[in-house]
Amino acid sequence: MKAVVLGKGKSGKAAAELLEKKGYKVILYDDKEPTKLPDFPDLVVKSPGIPSYHSVVVSYKKKGIEVIGEIELAYRYFKGKIISITGTNGKSTTTALIYQVLKEAGYKTFIGGNFGIPFSSFAEETTDDSITVLELSSFQIEDLKDFRSSISIILNITPDHMNRYKSFEEYVKAKLKLLGHSEFCILNQDDPVLRNLNRENFFFFSRKRKADAFFEKGKIFCKDFKIEVELLPLKGIHNVENYMGALLALKKLKLSNEKILNGFKTFYGLPHRTELVAEINGIKFINDSKSTNVDSLKKALESYEDIILIAGGSDKGLDFSSLRKLVRERVKGIVAIGETAEQFKKTFSDIVDVRISDNIFQAVKTAYKLASSGDVVLLSPGCASFDMFKNFEDRGEKFREAVKLLEEKIAG
Ligand code: ADP
Repeated sequence: MKAVVLGKGKSGKAAAELLEKKGYKVILYDDKEPTKLPDFPDLVVKSPGIPSYHSVVVSYKKKGIEVIGEIELAYRYFKGKIISITGTNGKSTTTALIYQVLKEAGYKTFIGGNFGIPFSSFAEETTDDSITVLELSSFQIEDLKDFRSSISIILNITPDHMNRYKSFEEYVKAKLKLLGHSEFCILNQDDPVLRNLNRENFFFFSRKRKADAFFEKGKIFCKDFKIEVELLPLKGIHNVENYMGALLALKKLKLSNEKILNGFKTFYGLPHRTELVAEINGIKFINDSKSTNVDSLKKALESYEDIILIAGGSDKGLDFSSLRKLVRERVKGIVAIGETAEQFKKTFSDIVDVRISDNIFQAVKTAYKLASSGDVVLLSPGCASFDMFKNFEDRGEKFREAVKLLEEKIAG
């Protein structure tokens, strides 16, 4: 049996390994190093980074050859239950949160998908009694076929990846496809796209109105359960949404209130998401490098006041003008970096001081100069990192380094 795997990234390599174990002869293909492809392989597996309009995908499909995604391949060798999490923002945080609660509660649990651990790399280790928590991107959902999740969560759908999708509607369609692959679905009722969906197996959370789980006066309510948000480690209203999504899923799995609360209290969040890096002369430095679109930037701005914002990065065709009101209310200065620096200047320079910096080290210095005690220097780029950095982790680490250097310089 012959299989072609498209894309030599992490998930492509994991898919190839799994197929080889299953007795396939595998050809691993990547546009960067094109190789000759067989005319009629038995199976084609595509990595999520390869769009469905890629010429190789199109030509194999035309010939009637089965083309599946990496998640779908892994699913064929998997056992047990799946909880899938998608959304424009909050996927990784909610995935890790649910995983942590299940682990603490003593379940046999796996984590992966878009989270950085390909599903194919551990699918065979899963058992009938295990629970797999999968973060799924829209690219991965597009390719689902027979995949079935016991529970799916869609946290939100706001504009992103406008360089890959023809329109916002097309991106929405990709995310909503997950609903057709799930026994129970948990949705954000405050999201303009999600609130209008209604089916028997849909459950909602809301921070504005009564729902299956809801937020009111500093507390999360869900049936017989009440949680004081102040007591939980993750801060910011976006994390209240993540907690509510996780809570509904864990309740569906019949975890006790006590186990859920204990688990929540042991999860301190992932790095590069509104993470406090240092405090220098009363100025807090926050690393939110994972903020790569308009809504994640919005949520970061809503979480702080008196902000000196470091933003900008690769251009994905996003429009930041919806943030003008928030910037006027909460931002004292902007230091813009990367490909979109000029765009930030154009969008905000009539309401706030906007400086442009060539690199993150310069940007941190400039931000510090603009700040005074009590202010927050917030790196929340609202853009991808690939114009200046390897990835968002690299951007966050460089920010951390820049803050450390500044601290040392000030200490003399
Ligand atoms: P994802 O995996 O979807 O990118 P992360 O948990 O890594 O999500 O967070 C990405 C960015 O979005 C961070 O800047 C984070 O602070 C912000 N964020 C986290 N949860 C939410 C949410 N529910 N709504 C909006 N922004 C969020």
